[in-house]
Amino acid sequence: MDGHVLILNRSWAAVHIAPVHRALTLLYVGTAKAVHPNEYSLHDFDDWLTLSSNGMTGRYIHTTSLRIRIPEVLLLQEFNRFVRREIRFSRHSILERDNHTCQYCGRHLAKAQLTLDHVVPQSRGGADTWENLAVACVQCNVRKGSHTPTEAGMHLMRKPSKPSWMPNFGKRVPEHQLEVWKRFVDTRRWKMASANSA
Ligand SMILES: [Zn+2]
Repeated sequence: MDGHVLILNRSWAAVHIAPVHRALTLLYVGTAKAVHPNEYSLHDFDDWLTLSSNGMTGRYIHTTSLRIRIPEVLLLQEFNRFVRREIRFSRHSILERDNHTCQYCGRHLAKAQLTLDHVVPQSRGGADTWENLAVACVQCNVRKGSHTPTEAGMHLMRKPSKPSWMPNFGKRVPEHQLEVWKRFVDTRRWKMASANSA
């Protein structure tokens, strides 16, 4: 039984990824509820089993006694079950966020060839923050010098921001799985879903 399930806390924030068998245990014992893939409604184990027997599309597992659809996402019913890991602010995290790609010329390079550029230069009061640091190759960083991107006539591929998604998932979890989860953790959709169920 391969694959992983995304675990959200009661505030709908991603806190953990669990192997399928572990996730099904959380669902079975009532620690978590399964999130419906289309309606974003919450279902306990029995409920989910009923939906499974009604032929919901998706991946299934079979045991001797039952056939159950593997949920993509679970919502915890208890507080503090897992502590949310804040992404540590570091050079490493920014390289991960920007995918080791110069945010000005788009070149994907080895760590040693990349620098962190202060979008608003330090000499002009630019801070060491998620929003003001972007990965840049040495050439682009030198070219930009102590200018803002506008002054230097350079364009950021993407406005730097604090990652809301946990970038380290990418190493352990296949890309198609991340795509599915991203759909689930789109905050606007979550707000709608939780407003409807309230
Ligand atoms: Zn560059």
